Amino acid sequence: MPFDLPAVLAERAFAGLRRQRVCLASGQGRQIQVDGQWYLNFSGNDYLGAASQPEIVQAWQAGLARWGAGSGASPLVTGYSQPHAQLEAQLCHWLGVEAALLFSTGFAANQAVIKALLGKAHLQWQDRLNHASLQEAGAASPAPMRRFAHNDMAQLARLLEPKRGLIISEGVFSMDGDQAPLSELVALSEASGNWLMIDDAHGLGVLGAAGRGTLAAQGIEPERVQILMGTFGKALGCAGAFVAGSRQLVDYLANFAREYVYSTHLPPAQAEAVSAAIHWVQGADAQRARLQEHIHLLRDGAARLGLTLGDSQTAIQPLLVGQSEAALALAERLRARGLWVTAIRPPTVPAGQARLRLTLTAAHSPDDIQRLLSALAETSA
Ligand SMILES: *Cc1c(COP(=O)(O)O)cnc(C)c1O
Repeated sequence: MPFDLPAVLAERAFAGLRRQRVCLASGQGRQIQVDGQWYLNFSGNDYLGAASQPEIVQAWQAGLARWGAGSGASPLVTGYSQPHAQLEAQLCHWLGVEAALLFSTGFAANQAVIKALLGKAHLQWQDRLNHASLQEAGAASPAPMRRFAHNDMAQLARLLEPKRGLIISEGVFSMDGDQAPLSELVALSEASGNWLMIDDAHGLGVLGAAGRGTLAAQGIEPERVQILMGTFGKALGCAGAFVAGSRQLVDYLANFAREYVYSTHLPPAQAEAVSAAIHWVQGADAQRARLQEHIHLLRDGAARLGLTLGDSQTAIQPLLVGQSEAALALAERLRARGLWVTAIRPPTVPAGQARLRLTLTAAHSPDDIQRLLSALAETSA
């Protein structure tokens, strides 16, 4: 056999790193059902509760009735239709960008940008904690990758070379919940004549006025970030992604990004659902305020219990544990108390930094947060 899969899987299990999929018997929400049991859900990315909003679900249904199930082709053939164009225009209006291009997933969007843009004469500078989709694309591109320590602007400044390529970071970091110092990144990119790309998968919808994301929250004009990427699968409650920037950037990607050109476009009905989701998220100030209250409740309670959460003001609240086995055991004990929490282990996070990635949503109630705190008090003692 050319591939010794059992041995590799056994080794992974021995290291406490074996992954197992969990099959839900319910939709996304405040509670999820697994193996006949209901759990309070502190693991999802549906930060505002959009996934179950009737107006978004109905828009998807109406889109299906009007446009059929699938898009039928890639976007340069006949897969691009009015709902896609309308969603692109809506993104431009919402985020203050010139143009946007849609992708089936954020993973594909990041591959598309990095691989289409960077050649071997370029350089790329990536934060060490960037999402796997960014690092994966960076490693596959011929441009040498220079990684800087998380949010370490002094190190980035030392590594930069004038007019050589692309600085890549995130608005809100997916496993830590902290934000990039965007004004410093913009200043470094402008001073060095390099472009800046921000992946705002976890800031979009949650941060800033009308949920415009991390740029808005930090007062950064969108035109100062050459490439903005966001996803529809987190606070927007749907699936898919976009890349936004100048008209030239979008035109270039539509010509050269293989993940765009050679892939069936997302269904038009899905584009209609995302349009409805943006409309809903723009007006979701009450949900954003509720989420902030939950974040404060959890952080205040954890501090009283002497538990150390990462330095995060967002929906992602990491509880650092250290060893993978210990993180798994803690998640197991919480499950026994009816709380669904995911242990995040290497290689998703650096070795020795296994954690519980607690995520809060507007759909939780203050009582839910208290239940989480009580369970943490009992299990972490
Ligand atoms: C989830 C995520 C992605 C991938 O987006 P999908 O639409 O889930 O493929 C990319 N970047 C970051 C930072 C993410 O958290």
